[in-house]
Amino acid sequence: MCGGCEKVICLYRRTRSEAPARIEELEHAEEEGVDFRWLAAPVEVLGNEDGIVTGVRVQKMELGEPDLSGRPRPVPIDGSEYDIELDSIIVGIGQGANPLLTQATEGLDVDTRGRIITEEITQMTSIPGVFAGGDIVTGAATVILAMGAGKLAAHSIDCYLRGVPMVVEEEAAEDVDDVEEIMAPTVIELETRTQNRAH
Ligand SMILES: Cc1cc2nc3c(=O)[nH]c(=O)nc-3n(C[C@H](O)[C@H](O)[C@H](O)COP(=O)(O)OP(=O)(O)OC[C@H]3O[C@@H](n4cnc5c(N)ncnc54)[C@H](O)[C@@H]3O)c2cc1C
Repeated sequence: MCGGCEKVICLYRRTRSEAPARIEELEHAEEEGVDFRWLAAPVEVLGNEDGIVTGVRVQKMELGEPDLSGRPRPVPIDGSEYDIELDSIIVGIGQGANPLLTQATEGLDVDTRGRIITEEITQMTSIPGVFAGGDIVTGAATVILAMGAGKLAAHSIDCYLRGVPMVVEEEAAEDVDDVEEIMAPTVIELETRTQNRAH
């Protein structure tokens, strides 16, 4: 059980069929003893007078008409609330870009979802000499893509610091899956700020 917990309960307001997880992830969690409570939505965190969490109030749900996502809308069942005693809560209700760094960094361009905009191949941001990659650029993706972006950025940073054009070579991303998706040509010489600086 994760982190040495005696018991883990996972509340989900729809059913197992709608859960946004791979089947094997659900099966592995169940094998490890996670107690899934389907059609159960947390509606209130309960605490004591010291502000320490002691439990969660749960409302039972039923499935209704499909919502905009195409999945059946979870509909609360009036009067069905019950409490669960616990000592820790982990909230997992979606993924988004953490705005702390992007909002505090002047001149850093982000898209409408707060993701950092970079040059496609070099990973350089709108701030010359500042590079970014991974989920903060692509949105929620995978470890392998984040590692690939890191590798490309490292290569660009090396070129940038040496004052040479940022050229992306095949070996810079040789271990990365879906290489063609993240770097269309294998060798690209970009008209970048680095090139201008080098002249
Ligand atoms: C529940 C879950 C399951 C997943 N399962 C898989 C899977 O099975 N396979 C897979 O390939 N991918 C999986 N992913 C996706 C994968 O975790 C991400 O794509 C990957 O971690 C992205 O790497 P990253 O380096 O871009 O970002 P992160 O791994 O999120 O690293 C960003 C780091 O920056 C730190 N940070 C943030 N803001 C600041 C700041 N202001 N100052 C300093 N540090 C800061 C954060 O603390 C964090 O350590 C999963 C993701 C989740 C949420």
